[in-house]
Amino acid sequence: MFESLADRLQQALGEVRSRGRLSEEDVERALRQVRLALLEADVDFRVVKEFTARVRERAIGTQVLASVNPAHQVVKVVADELTELLGGTTSEFVLPKARPAVVVLAGLQGSGKTTAAAKLARYLRAERGLDVALAACDLQRPAAVEQLVLLGGRADCTVYERGTDATPVEVAGWALGRAREEQRDVLIVDTAGRLHVDDQLMAELQAITERVRPHRVLLVLDAMTGQDAVNVATAFAERAPFDGLVLTKLDGDARGGAALSVKAVTGRPIVFASTGERLEEFELFHPDRVAQRILGMGDVVTLVERAQRELDERKAAELERKMRRAELTLEDFLEQLRQIRKMGPLKSLLGMLPGMGSQLAALDLDERELDRVEAIILSMTPEERRRPEIIDASRRRRIARGSGTSPQQVAQLVKQFQAMRRLMRDLSRGRLGALGSLLGR
Ligand code: GDP
Repeated sequence: MFESLADRLQQALGEVRSRGRLSEEDVERALRQVRLALLEADVDFRVVKEFTARVRERAIGTQVLASVNPAHQVVKVVADELTELLGGTTSEFVLPKARPAVVVLAGLQGSGKTTAAAKLARYLRAERGLDVALAACDLQRPAAVEQLVLLGGRADCTVYERGTDATPVEVAGWALGRAREEQRDVLIVDTAGRLHVDDQLMAELQAITERVRPHRVLLVLDAMTGQDAVNVATAFAERAPFDGLVLTKLDGDARGGAALSVKAVTGRPIVFASTGERLEEFELFHPDRVAQRILGMGDVVTLVERAQRELDERKAAELERKMRRAELTLEDFLEQLRQIRKMGPLKSLLGMLPGMGSQLAALDLDERELDRVEAIILSMTPEERRRPEIIDASRRRRIARGSGTSPQQVAQLVKQFQAMRRLMRDLSRGRLGALGSLLGR
């Protein structure tokens, strides 16, 4: 499904994914490629524009918050937005209690409408145990009636047909009467298709819907026709409203344009996907699964989700425990520092915060200061990191030599760290004096 789009997107995100750190430029470069890939897949250009704007905003906004690899997060954001584009949540095909529930299928000739009618009948029968009948009202395409009789038989469903002598509206009304008499659960009406959207087609569809008053109208679209399919959907939406879409021929080399634009353009969800000529090749359309298949990165998405949940909770709990007991060590401090730095250079990280970009020029962030802190801690022994109070003058000299700093700088770091630890202990014990009462402790 959507192979070339999948290839392009996977390539664009693959580059990002291989990076540990991610700058704003990296994100922009990947976004440019994502944009091109979508346009090439024949996705509506307005939809592409909105899509990339949303991804940019979210990719840039979320990175600073979580402690996982930011590149993976960008993949996750693209997957989320792709899912949204495909319709967000799965549209469960819920039928009313009415007997029969009436479903009308509309669409152009060759879209796969008659096949979809039989497939839907089989689906409702096999998956939901419903007693389904089909009404052969496509009297436009010469062989449609025989085709429905044949496929309906294979789906083990009754087909109501009166050849091509009566009018489609007559057949529809008659079929509804029989479905009522025979107490069918569902009646699926296959309507006439034409080569183009025209007045006759719309008039006939309207006459049929007035006659049978369907509970659901599904429009069948051929995914292979890309933007044309979206135009057809728009034309129908204006003149013969439908509730949802059946997208067919998704097994072919459809580029993805129809699937990715149609919800945004018409506001109607894709309910079913037809993925082959066999009756069983028909299923509810799951936007999230399709998005992950297109990205081929279900692993990354799951990973990020799990990591976001677990890491955040575990780290936060652990840190809080340590703070409470004033057990925080320079090792924890170093790890925190690295977690933050893993997300990228501080300057670009801050630049990703909304509204920060322009103020950064004025802000002189000294990355070297952080390098120094890291070097000093790394030159300490594990014992010194856990109990910095044992660092005397000779240890200070050794650490300074090892880290290329001065003993004063080592002393300063230790002092700052101890002050911080004291503050945490006081905070957790509620011993803050005047400041504490100000804070309501
Ligand atoms: P209708 O004119 O809209 O009723 O179209 P049909 O149901 O006759 O389908 C037109 C052609 O498309 C037929 O040859 C079907 O077998 C084929 N077709 C329908 N759905 C699919 C599908 O999901 N995948 C593939 N590969 N072919 C399909």
